[in-house]
Amino acid sequence: MKQKQEKISIIYRYDDVHAYSRNEPEQVILDCFRNNNIRCVMAVIPFVCAANWRDPNFQEKIPLPKEKIDFIKPYLKAGVCEIALHGLSHQNLRRKNRISHFFPGNRNKNRFSEFYGQNHDQQLKRLIQGKEYLESLFETEITSFVPPWNSYDKTTIRCLDELGFEVLSGENDRSCTSGGNINILSANARINDLQNLIENQTEKPSCLIIQAHAFDFKKIDLKQGQIHYQEFEELIKKIAQHPKLMFTTLKTFASHNKQEKRQ
Ligand SMILES: [Zn+2]
Repeated sequence: MKQKQEKISIIYRYDDVHAYSRNEPEQVILDCFRNNNIRCVMAVIPFVCAANWRDPNFQEKIPLPKEKIDFIKPYLKAGVCEIALHGLSHQNLRRKNRISHFFPGNRNKNRFSEFYGQNHDQQLKRLIQGKEYLESLFETEITSFVPPWNSYDKTTIRCLDELGFEVLSGENDRSCTSGGNINILSANARINDLQNLIENQTEKPSCLIIQAHAFDFKKIDLKQGQIHYQEFEELIKKIAQHPKLMFTTLKTFASHNKQEKRQ
């Protein structure tokens, strides 16, 4: 137990797996984690909106198709990933947002959001529908929630607690402290921070939560992309073999937290 505490925990949280997300980067990631015998988190949108995610007007919703489920399920069964709920449709429902940046800086109030400012019943309904759908498709209990745009409010935490969730991984917002049984594990890094972690041994956070997307990869987005598939595979392998770094999932990290608090 002591040895484990000395390690830096790393959670690789890959967002935006949905009906029309590309399988290629997902397969690269999942194969890489499987080959290194480590685990990651896939944040899945159950009923993704069909058009512009930022447009709050009515949109069609597309359920996760069987092909996507069949593709991910074997990795889940083999323990390669945890499935987290990533909103219901990832549609922005706020009409008053001003700006949106993924990371870092802007507070919840300035972001696009599917949850912030929605009333209790509206939020609860979305969470129940998403959780039940993913649980029936993947035949697993979903206890981690990743709000779209990392945006949530106190009501979100209350609803999650009522539904038996254990983790919320979003923006770090000091006005929303942990409530009930909910662990707030805020995203605090991007893929290039992993490289720094290996090279720079002076600053060591106890837990690094990487918010990852398909556009991190140069193959997917030449402009925003930070890494080639092969570089990614080499980086993950290096970390997996590093004696002081340890990949984990939101669920596992939260349950260790809980045990430590009890002791
Ligand atoms: Zn997202």
